[in-house]
Amino acid sequence: MLLTLLVLFFGLQQWRRPQADFRFWFAGWIFILMGYFLWAIGEAHAPLLRLEDALCFDFTMLGAGAFVLSAIAKDYGVRRALLAGLAVAPAAMAMVDVQDFQPVPPVALAVALLLGECLLLAVIYRLQRQRPLRKMILAFVVSAICGSGLAIYALLTPAHDLANGVMVQALLTAAVLFAGTKQKSGRSVLQWTTTFGFVAWAAFYLLRVLPASPAWLQNVLGEFWNFPKYFVGGSMILFVLEDAAEDKARDAETFRDLYEDFRLLFDTHPHPMWICDTQRGQILTANETAVKQYGYTLAEFQALRIEDLEVPPDVEAEEMEHILGGAAEGGVRERHRHKNGNVLWVNRVEREIAYLGQKARLVIARNITDRLKLDRELSFRAQHDALTGLPNRQLLEERLEQCLQSCRVEERRAAVLTIDVDHFKLINDTYGHLVGDECLKEVAARLKSKIRKVDTIARTGGEEFTAVVSGLSKPSDAEKVAASLMRVFEAPVELAFGALGVTVSVGVAIYPDDANDATSLRRLSDEAMYRAKRSGRNRAAYASEKAPVLDFRKPEIELKEQHSS
Ligand code: GH3
Ligand code: MG
Ligand code: MG
Repeated sequence: MLLTLLVLFFGLQQWRRPQADFRFWFAGWIFILMGYFLWAIGEAHAPLLRLEDALCFDFTMLGAGAFVLSAIAKDYGVRRALLAGLAVAPAAMAMVDVQDFQPVPPVALAVALLLGECLLLAVIYRLQRQRPLRKMILAFVVSAICGSGLAIYALLTPAHDLANGVMVQALLTAAVLFAGTKQKSGRSVLQWTTTFGFVAWAAFYLLRVLPASPAWLQNVLGEFWNFPKYFVGGSMILFVLEDAAEDKARDAETFRDLYEDFRLLFDTHPHPMWICDTQRGQILTANETAVKQYGYTLAEFQALRIEDLEVPPDVEAEEMEHILGGAAEGGVRERHRHKNGNVLWVNRVEREIAYLGQKARLVIARNITDRLKLDRELSFRAQHDALTGLPNRQLLEERLEQCLQSCRVEERRAAVLTIDVDHFKLINDTYGHLVGDECLKEVAARLKSKIRKVDTIARTGGEEFTAVVSGLSKPSDAEKVAASLMRVFEAPVELAFGALGVTVSVGVAIYPDDANDATSLRRLSDEAMYRAKRSGRNRAAYASEKAPVLDFRKPEIELKEQHSS
């Protein structure tokens, strides 16, 4: 009873163990115990008694068989162990059970026994051929000896007790297999104890069937009948415990190895990484790259929380997000503060992990500051003119569309002014392209100085500029803008070699008075500019008028060379 409870309790406790040998082992005990319970229920009436006897033997036999399979499964796998069991067990049980109900002639029984034994030997031989193991040779020898012994016993003794003889063989086979099974920690005392238990168990059955065993011996056997089972059961339990402890130690070692690998990866990772607690965001540890790129020492990091590093959103961030557009690839784009106050743009990726037994967050903050700077520069270059730094035609068109949209909503006027330098070719031809470039830069700077930040002045051709001015309330406001743009050229342009008089011709088109759409406005202002050219240059012309009206300065270009360089 005690053994029953112990095995059950222990088996259920260890039920999750994945090892197949443990499962067979546990099943073996369940069979043995079922046999035991049948026996303990006590006597029934004659026909039932026979059935009970047969079942009792079958269960005990299945138990012993499961122990054998447990040892086979360890080396040959569950599938082969089950196949071997299915090949042998039904034959053995049928033979014993039939003989129990209806005694057969000794010769027939001996022949059946020999045939059964041959089947068993064939199974062992097959397994052994697939994977040669010394213990299988031993099992082979045991089966051969026991088989012939059983056949002789069946022939010689009339009142043969075949069941006990078969049990002897099964238990001896289990003993041999257990003795030969290699354990992880070498052959332990427990292994020998189990083997001893099986041998003793077999010996008890053997002594019981020996015809000459005296009565006192039978009495002693009765007293100590369960002893070998305690040996087997107890040491098997300890075996599994030892195994579990080994598993645990190995798990701990694996975990330690994993942790060390992780630590190595963490410490040498090229991107800043840290681990923080999930609740407060307190930084628990940071890697060397984080220390290098953020300027904090590890100890300083450990005094910080994630939010201490974050820079709140502002105009610069918005502007940058506008340039970059969309989400950061595979993470969150945010800004962090370097210890010295500088802002770092990072792409943050994080995931939940267990760190030293507590829930934590692993954060990788890839520094993308340099890349973003480059992106910004490239985007600027794509929209600006390299010589003057002014917006180019493409950006002007975008801005003009935006401007017209807001003017539509606010019901205000806007003006498009085309500004072309007069006789610029002459400057190039006289002083060379380099001087021409210098001059263009100065022209751009002067024009820009008269344009508000919300408005746009772009370089839309070689020496042609276009201004978009919004928020005008009446058409005459555009005249004022044109006048102010022309007035910036009253003073000669100072260049390396001296001063140069420059004039411009301006064409003006007004939204919505002259046209409603960007293309028409641009065309009209262009035409007006050409009209200004034709009317003698250095003046402004309007899309709404057929003749140029404004003439601020002397009509002809004045090239003044003050001193040669
Ligand atoms: P106008 O407009 O008054 O009719 O005469 P213009 O001489 O300015 O007219 P045109 O359009 O024929 O000449 C423009 C000149 O500008 C031609 C070209 O050599 C020069 N140019 C265009 N882009 C650049 C540049 O980037 N640098 C320099 N140095 N010259 C340029
Ligand atoms: Mg020109
Ligand atoms: Mg031109």
